[in-house]
Amino acid sequence: MRKPLFAANWKMNKTVSESVLLAKALKNEFLGLTNREVVLCPPFTSLSAVAAEIRIAPIALGAQNMHYEKEGAFTGEISPFMLQELGVKYVIVGHSERRQHFNEGNELINKKIKSAAAFGLHPIFCVGETEEERKKKKTKAIIGKQVKEGLKGVSEFEMRKVNIAYEPVWAIGTGKNATPEQAEEVHEFIRNLVKRSYNDEIADNLRILYGGSVNPENVEGFMIKSAVDGVLVGGASLDPKKFVKIVKYDY
Ligand code: PEP
Repeated sequence: MRKPLFAANWKMNKTVSESVLLAKALKNEFLGLTNREVVLCPPFTSLSAVAAEIRIAPIALGAQNMHYEKEGAFTGEISPFMLQELGVKYVIVGHSERRQHFNEGNELINKKIKSAAAFGLHPIFCVGETEEERKKKKTKAIIGKQVKEGLKGVSEFEMRKVNIAYEPVWAIGTGKNATPEQAEEVHEFIRNLVKRSYNDEIADNLRILYGGSVNPENVEGFMIKSAVDGVLVGGASLDPKKFVKIVKYDY
C-alpha cells in the first residue's frame, strides 16, 4: 500500500520569518491525518526555522536541492550531510527549473540521487517533457531516458528511498495542468520501466507523484487515479488555505 505524499515546493520564496508564518499556519492542519504524508520544502535558509516550527506536527521537512558530495570546496553548495543534521527527510532532485536554469543533466542528477539515498534522505526525483517534446510525441522517449540515466547504478536498497515526480515542463507554473489521463499514462510507463529494471516489489512500492499547476480544484482528478501516489505543488503551496485544501481534498 503506497501512502500518498503531498509535497510543497516553496521554490525561491519566503524569508525566514515568512516561512515560519506559513509553517505556523499549516502545523495543526494535518493532525490525525494518518493516511497521507505531507512534506514542506522551504528554501535552505528557512530549513532550521521551519524544522523547529513543525517539530511535533505530522509534517516532514524537505530540501529543494543538494550537492552530491559530503563536504569540500564547493562554494555556495549545500551537502546531504548538512541536510541530515537539520532533520531533512526528503530532497527534490532534478527539478525542471534546475535542469533549465542551472544546466543540470541526468548524470549529475544520478549522482545526487545516489548520494541522497546514501545519507538516508529520500529523493523526490523529477522528470518531465517539454511542450515541444510532447507535440513531437517524444514524451516516453524523454521520460524513459531521464528515468534510466537518473537511476543508473542505483541499488535496490537505495531505490526503496526514491520517489519519482512526473512534472511536465509545460505544466509547471503555467496554470495549464496535464489531464489525469495524461499523468496516468506516464506514471504507468515509469512504473513498468522500474519493474523491468528492478522487480515487482520495488515498482509496486514506488510512489509516483504528479506535479504541474495542481490546485484545490483539480487535485481530486489526479488522486483518484491509482497510478498517482501524491502531488508536488509549487505555486498553490504558498497559500496555506489552498495547500490544506489540496492535502484534504476528499475530507
Ligand atoms: C513545482 O514547482 O514542482 C510545480 C509543480 O509548480 P506549480 O505547482 O506552480 O506548477
